[in-house]
This record gives sequence, structure tokens and C-alpha cells, in this order.
Amino acid sequence: MSQIASDAANVVIDRTARYPEAPPRPTEEYRDATAKRANRTSTNSVETTRTALGRTLQLHRFSTPMEKGVSLERALEIANLTPMERNPETLTLDQATGRTLFDDLSSLVDDPRFDNSAMDGWAVREADCQETGAVLRIVGTSQAGSAEAPFVREGEACSIMTGAPIPDGADAIVMVEDSTTHDGIVTINGPARPGFIRKRGENLSQGDRPLKSGNILTPSAISLAATMGHDIVSVVRQPSIAVIGVGDELTPPGEPLSENSIYESNTFGISSLVEKMGGMPRRYELIRDSIDDLRQALDEAAESCDAIITSGGVSMGEWDIVRQIMEQEGDIRFWRIMMRPGGPPLFGSWKGKPLFGLPGNPVSSHVVFTVLVAPWMSNSMGSEKSNGPGLANRVRVTMQEPLKGAPGKLCMRRISIKQEGDNLVASTSTHQGSGNIHSMVAHNGLSLLPPDASCEKGDTIDALWLF
Ligand code: AMP
Ligand code: MG
Repeated sequence: MSQIASDAANVVIDRTARYPEAPPRPTEEYRDATAKRANRTSTNSVETTRTALGRTLQLHRFSTPMEKGVSLERALEIANLTPMERNPETLTLDQATGRTLFDDLSSLVDDPRFDNSAMDGWAVREADCQETGAVLRIVGTSQAGSAEAPFVREGEACSIMTGAPIPDGADAIVMVEDSTTHDGIVTINGPARPGFIRKRGENLSQGDRPLKSGNILTPSAISLAATMGHDIVSVVRQPSIAVIGVGDELTPPGEPLSENSIYESNTFGISSLVEKMGGMPRRYELIRDSIDDLRQALDEAAESCDAIITSGGVSMGEWDIVRQIMEQEGDIRFWRIMMRPGGPPLFGSWKGKPLFGLPGNPVSSHVVFTVLVAPWMSNSMGSEKSNGPGLANRVRVTMQEPLKGAPGKLCMRRISIKQEGDNLVASTSTHQGSGNIHSMVAHNGLSLLPPDASCEKGDTIDALWLF
């Protein structure tokens, strides 16, 4: 085995424990702490108010409790209670790569459709070929796709091609390499193998359902669908997801910057993540820190999209208007997650559509998307857990340097993961600040340091290996 192959064999990628199915395990203390912190706040229903223009000012008051400062595990649990609608769409096989199957797909045929040869060679009777040097009379040819082949009687052989039907009377195949021919006679110099006959239905019987709802149409699944006779498939429609950036300081890249403004990046990054997860992002014009503008954008998004993702404005500040509008007019299910980076997000719904309020710091929004929104999208789309779209695999890595954790919070530092000998090892470089999106580009993983846990050089820790 080559060095690379033997190294690859030693990499432990635990796909069954792959996030999001097994989010980072919180410690007992962390569980207790977050349970206590789950400060349940009931909201009362409020009359809706209509302005002179007819716009509804207050809608959707809910009595469902909101939880504050939850573990990532709990955040995902809560979000999964409010999935997007799952709808079908019909595509040709050519269009369906990477999509999630909506329905089970059953085979329209047996596979193989008939007994056929796995080799180019001779269809024979095994009993005639017990001794090397057996001499058989050639009675014809069975070619893939051709009409009927001759019957093979005692002392006879039929030339046969790979995939061609086995002639009646024959029960074994001799490889062409094990034969010589002259004057209508073939001399058999090797074994006659019944095992070289591929039996009708040995792979699939008509009506079998080897592709299930939720399976991802990988290239081999596309091939299987075609083998089973399907030229069109019903797949999960790509959810359309509104991506709305909020902040007075933000200027779209390509436009002139005024003093104290910065280029906006999150709506681009988040849209790219949505796309990678099989959704259709709808990037909105930036919203200034104005509740009215935000309300209008949210209303429009709730009308036309399956879910809404906002960026920025979810912290404690006076201008954190996403949090404010969601508190006053929306329905918040949780606010703040005990993780770093990415502590401030909220989740709830606006006019019945699921809404994630992601933090404005670029690293935070990417990390929260990766560990929360991505698994929620997979779950909503009903994608198969083992090979559904995802942004990372959960792995074990040995740290090549100490890593500082975070008090009371799951700590996801950016790390570079690589194979070294039999192990995956990880190190850090660049500034780790949650504003430094370069740290996500310069690294390819995230540590999953449990709350309050730091690690020393040589410690093995859980991590996410980003795709
Ligand atoms: P906020 O969550 O709105 O308090 O923003 C936190 C930090 O993220 C601030 O430094 C913002 O300038 C920055 N920020 C917010 N939104 C974006 C965005 N869409 N693109 C880049 N940076 C942002
Ligand atoms: Mg802001």
C-alpha cells in the first residue's frame, strides 16, 4: 500500500458522529449552567395596529417561551422544531446532481436484466472443462445487445462478450486469455467459472427501492437512477433564503467608502454558504439601522422566501435593531448561544417564516452558520444524515500548540488540520479575532473545546474539519 493510502486508512473520520447529529458534548457543569440560564420569558399576545397607510405595525405576538444563553445542542434542537417547508420539484437526471431525493426511487427493471457474462471469452458447460486442454466445437457468438445466441450442447462452446446474454445450455465462462482457437475449435487452457456469470436480479429486483427519500444524488446515485430506468426524478426544491445585512456603517464592495464606513461582506459570505448547502440565496439591499426599513425588508422576505437570515444587530446595543424588532413584533425562540465566537445569535420566526439573526462579526456569522444554520437546513430538507450537504466533518486532532478555551462557552478557534503520520494534527496561525475573516481562509478547521476547557500541546481534541 502506498504511503498516502496507508495514511488515509488511519484517518478517523467519524461520519456517524458527524456534526450536526452529534453537536459538541457539553460538560455536566455546562449543562447545569445553561439549564439555569434558560431564562424562560413568556410574551403576551398584543393587538395588531394599523396605520393610516394600512400597514400592520404589530403582528405575531406569541406565547411560546424564549430561552436565553442556550448550548449549541439546545439551539439546534429548538431551531429544528421550526423547519422550512419541504416541497418537491421534478428534474431531469442531467440537472439533479447533488440534489436531495424527495421520494423513494424504485427500480423499473431487474439488474442485471438477464444472466450475462462478466468476461470476454467462452460460454461452456463446466463439466466439459474439467481438464486443461479440453477441446470444444465453436457453435456461434453471443454479443452484448445482439439477438439470440445458439444453444450450447455437450462438447460445444459459444464465443461471448462482456455483458452478452448467457446462451441456454451453458453454465460457466472461460476467459478468452485461457483459450486458443483453430479451425472452428477452441482449446480450453484455464478454468471454467460459473462465477463469471452475472445472474439476473443479483443486484436489484424490479420494485426494489435502493434510493430513499433524503438520499443525496451523488454521481453514483445518478448512475443508479438511470440503471433503474428513471430519466426524471423528484427532488427537494431548493429553499429560497433571504440574506439581509443590517448596519449604518456598511457599504457594498465596489462603491466608494465614506469616512468610517467599511465594505460589507457578510451578505456575500452567507449567501455563498446558503448556496453550498443547496439553498437559493436572495441577497437583499443593505438595511440602514432603521426599524421601519428592516420591517419592510422582513415582510417582503417572509412573503417571498422560505427562510430569512439577517446579519448584524443582534447584540445588546441600542442600535441592535434585529433583536429589538424581533422582541417587539416577531417571535424569538432563543437568543444567545454559549459559544465563542458567535455568542449573540437569535432564532425565531417572522410572519411564520424561520429567521436566524446572525451576529455581524464576519467570523461569528460564518461559524454560527456552519454549526447551526447548515445542520438546520439539512434537517429541513430531509437530507440523509450520512452524506447530506454539510460544511464540515467531525474529527479528532492532536494539537501542536496550546489552545485557550473560553469560560462557560464552547470554544471554536480557527485551526489548520493536516495529516501527519497516522494522526491528524492541528495548529493555529493568524489573529483569532471574530472580526478577522482572513482567519477562516487561512485555516481549515474549528476546535470544539468544551466550555472551560483549554488544551496543552499534544492533547487530542474534537474539531470540525471544514470542506
Ligand atoms: P453588530 O452585530 O451589528 O453589532 O456588528 C458587529 C461587528 O460586525 C461590527 O464591527 C460591524 O461593523 C461588523 N459587521 C456587521 N455587519 C457586517 C457585514 N454585513 N459585513 C461586514 N461586517 C459587518
Ligand atoms: Mg450593527
